[in-house]
Amino acid sequence: MQTKFIFVTGGVMSGLGKGVVSSSICKLLQLSDQKVSCIKIDPYLNYDAGTMNPIAHGEVFVTDDGGECDMDIGNYERFLNQDIPKSHNITTAQIYSSVIESERKGEYLGACVQIIPHVTDAIKNRIKKIAADEELEILVVECGGTVGDIESLPFLEALRQIRVEEGSENVIFVHVTLAPSLDVVGEQKTKPTQHSVQELRRIGIQPDLLCVRCSMPLQDKTRNKISMFTNVTNNDVFSCHDVDSIFQVPEILYDQGLVDVIFKKFNKMGYVNASQNWDTWNKIVNSLHNEGDPINIAMVGKYVTLADSYVSVNHALKHAAASIGKKITIDWIDSENINGNVDTLSKYNGILVPGGFGTRGSEGIIKTANFAREQNIPYLGICFGFQLAAVSFARNVCSHTDANSTEIEQNTNNPIIDLLPEQDGITDMGGSLRLGANEINVKPDTIANKIYGQDKISKRHRHRYEFNTKYLEEFAQKGMIFSGESDEGRRMEILEIPSHKFFVGVQFHPEFNSRPGYPEHVFKAFTTAANQN
Ligand code: GLN
Repeated sequence: MQTKFIFVTGGVMSGLGKGVVSSSICKLLQLSDQKVSCIKIDPYLNYDAGTMNPIAHGEVFVTDDGGECDMDIGNYERFLNQDIPKSHNITTAQIYSSVIESERKGEYLGACVQIIPHVTDAIKNRIKKIAADEELEILVVECGGTVGDIESLPFLEALRQIRVEEGSENVIFVHVTLAPSLDVVGEQKTKPTQHSVQELRRIGIQPDLLCVRCSMPLQDKTRNKISMFTNVTNNDVFSCHDVDSIFQVPEILYDQGLVDVIFKKFNKMGYVNASQNWDTWNKIVNSLHNEGDPINIAMVGKYVTLADSYVSVNHALKHAAASIGKKITIDWIDSENINGNVDTLSKYNGILVPGGFGTRGSEGIIKTANFAREQNIPYLGICFGFQLAAVSFARNVCSHTDANSTEIEQNTNNPIIDLLPEQDGITDMGGSLRLGANEINVKPDTIANKIYGQDKISKRHRHRYEFNTKYLEEFAQKGMIFSGESDEGRRMEILEIPSHKFFVGVQFHPEFNSRPGYPEHVFKAFTTAANQN
């Protein structure tokens, strides 16, 4: 089967939303009954996103198969409602490692190993293997970075070669650019787009389509000018103007005829433009825009200066609120600033503590969890928020005043949270956490069992520490029970306080499983409880 490829490049500057454009194009083709998937290329030298600071780069998205990926993979999963494997996030480090490994094994038979052809071949093989293994009809590949960057050059060269090898009827290049408006009359400027297309052409790539980011819809005269000076037909210049929600982008591209243009270029006749699929998707998108009084959530975490640090949690809360016909507002609160101010949390309908690492801000989280428990405010703790809720319970209810996680205080006499035994002796930071999907047993007659409605669930993980089962009995006697566990009872996965309005912590990351129209269960339960509070 011949897979068709759509390569998405970016010009002018970063942060234009290439990921949203790529996901939207892929979504439109999925709605047209094509078997599709997306790949994200990250030209940086990190092996994966696992060691990157979330405040600078946004969240690390964890896949079912344990990949620590760029957050665009999360966008793909949410748009397509489809699991994406970690092989779909390609980095320079992965490509170079595989080339160097082959060289060390002598697989190049004495050749001088070079960027072209060896590195470019490795890139092409990786992309084509995914297309073949997954029997995809259309594969969208988003190349991170901005055209002109040194580090993305080998990738762009590999994509250029794929067009030559596969034939131009099987490959479309989409370039995402910007038309800024500088003055009050809002004239849209075309020069940045002209220059970035020139830069692409300099390396042998003539884009077929342009998706132009702009605040207001692209004006005709801007479109004409862009078309004239970039060699892209008028019809193939698409306006990607600002909309309320990223999930509306497929529709604005569809309205401009994007699907027809793509199928025509691919010479694909008689495709299904399934109106049935459109209805379902539109219903989901519309449900994300509920009006009325919002549910107010305090999200108390360590990485609050960048909303993207918790992007999947933000989305999951929205999906959950949408499913009960409500809208949500989230205040991101720095846990370092909670000390002495914890009372300010009383105005919220619910308190959520997301994942985190390290000592900074941990005392604020422990106080937050204690406050939510004492004041009977719905609380959801995720990973670090689960662990520190247990620490706060040990300190304040079980009178172990020095209780802590050994991640924070190694010499505590009450290590409520301790290193996973298999982590002992591990010194590498990258890829060494407990990662990916694991099966969890949910005990009968618990809040968790009511929430999930089943005895076994599979959830994604990313942690190095876990609850110390030595304290299980004492906690149960004092009113906190562990209602989910894995590995034959060795690991605690869900905690709850049955007497509380809603006090639940999960060692796993439910946010990575939430999709528009299909909210993750614990988020839905938490949001529902917050709505009633
Ligand atoms: N730092 C904690 C651990 O490694 C929690 C991790 C997280 O919140 N993702 O176990």
